[in-house]
Amino acid sequence: MIQDMTYAEVCEYVKNLNEPAYRAKQLFEACTLGKTLEEISNLPKIFKEKIENDYIKFEIVAHLVSKDETQKIAIKFEDGSIVESVLLKYKYGYTVCVSTQVGCRMGCKFCASTLNGLQRNLSAGEILSQVLFFNKYLGGTLKERKVTNVVLMGCGEPLDNYDNVAKFLRLVSAEEGLNISQRNISLSTCGIVPKIYQLADDGFSVTLTISLHAPNDELRKTIMPIANAYSIKEILSACDYYFDKTGRRIAFEYSLISGKNDDDKTIEQLASILKGRSCHVNLIPLNSVKEKQLLGATRKRAYQLAGKLEKLGISATVRRTMGEDIEGACGQLRNRVGAKND
Ligand code: SAH
Repeated sequence: MIQDMTYAEVCEYVKNLNEPAYRAKQLFEACTLGKTLEEISNLPKIFKEKIENDYIKFEIVAHLVSKDETQKIAIKFEDGSIVESVLLKYKYGYTVCVSTQVGCRMGCKFCASTLNGLQRNLSAGEILSQVLFFNKYLGGTLKERKVTNVVLMGCGEPLDNYDNVAKFLRLVSAEEGLNISQRNISLSTCGIVPKIYQLADDGFSVTLTISLHAPNDELRKTIMPIANAYSIKEILSACDYYFDKTGRRIAFEYSLISGKNDDDKTIEQLASILKGRSCHVNLIPLNSVKEKQLLGATRKRAYQLAGKLEKLGISATVRRTMGEDIEGACGQLRNRVGAKND
């Protein structure tokens, strides 16, 4: 599909259609602006008819705005698959949180995205479409894009869809495209070890974020099935490799589940395994997911534990919860038309 293509690929594609070369530029720019086929006014009807079947089409089936201005969309592709994406407003700009798969097969006990398993992978262009939609919505132009940051923290496990995610990273950071620097992109993973090595070897330099949630394998296995495949030791070695290759500090996400992983001893163990690494811990009081029986720690407890980690020499912050009232917060995204909480 056209949105899956780099500029060079679009040029090749247009050439194969026996169309003049300047059409490639027009088409690529229209894509970058997030235009639908109907909205592209500088391409002749005949040309549009030729490319119609190669152009990704989608429908926004829900668009919710939270009290804190966080926005969530449910985006439906032509095969009926729905994923959610979130727009977060920060002082320095706008961040889009994209989904990388329809559903997820990782089975984490606390996460809504995995409730119905994995339906399918998203293509690079489908992941990109989520960013382009919000950029257009905010009035972004080719000279001035509005979206400044991207996080791969929506539905799905990015490293379980490696090839499409890698292509997406290339597209979204391409100079001719949205040109979002890899420094401003965070990829979050539950820890698929060989793919972390591959990411480093393929020359990417995005911020790597590991969903750790436990400082020992025994505890981790009770909440994250992936812990049966890869040990924390293996994950940390892969992180060291990534850091050596990229110089990028690793972030660790730690969702605080009341009575499970939020006691002093467990947090001390977390500090001891991370000690000496250039990293940062993001504490997230677990957000509620109706179908799950786990309870989040209070924010007060989260701040206490962040203080404790800092004392033990580990940089730590409590993640701001945004968009919880529209189920747009961490772990609340899923593949259905978004609901609004009462
Ligand atoms: N599959 C990737 C991307 C998801 S990112 C990953 O595992 O990293 C979403 C982040 O939110 C992950 O760190 C995830 O573990 C965390 N999360 C999932 N459910 C949550 C919940 N109910 N409350 C808080 N954080 C949650």
